[in-house]
Amino acid sequence: MEANPLDTTASADAPVALRAAGYRVTPQRLVVHRTLVELGRHVGAEELLGEVERRLPNVSLPTVYSALDALEDAGLVRRVSAGQGRALYDARPADHHHLVCRRCGAVEDLDARVSLSGALASARENGFAPDGAEVVVRGLCASCRAG
Ligand SMILES: [Zn+2]
Ligand SMILES: [Zn+2]
Repeated sequence: MEANPLDTTASADAPVALRAAGYRVTPQRLVVHRTLVELGRHVGAEELLGEVERRLPNVSLPTVYSALDALEDAGLVRRVSAGQGRALYDARPADHHHLVCRRCGAVEDLDARVSLSGALASARENGFAPDGAEVVVRGLCASCRAG
């Protein structure tokens, strides 16, 4: 059975969060969010577009980027710097860290207790207003090591 692309039960909080951040609730924003939640992994905007197009026709890359910007601003989506200028999007907005494989580019969540308060304090001392910080651990993933 094909899911109704406009059925937002999987992301019931998204309209509330969008409105709270001052954004209009549009089908594009909801479908982009829902697709990211359902994919359950870290994806780039172009890959996400391919998935979104199956649910909502006539969606363009700029639309996906602008939806992601709104979702990120509303605290629903997190942008992960995966190295080499690659930005991936994550439907898990709560603070967490990442493992990035330098060979295959795989990005995995890393749950580790890390105190970044020192880095944030230094940032403030430099007159910077930090939004947050996260750790990216680079190296080789388990399957690349085995291969
Ligand atoms: Zn790898
Ligand atoms: Zn993540």
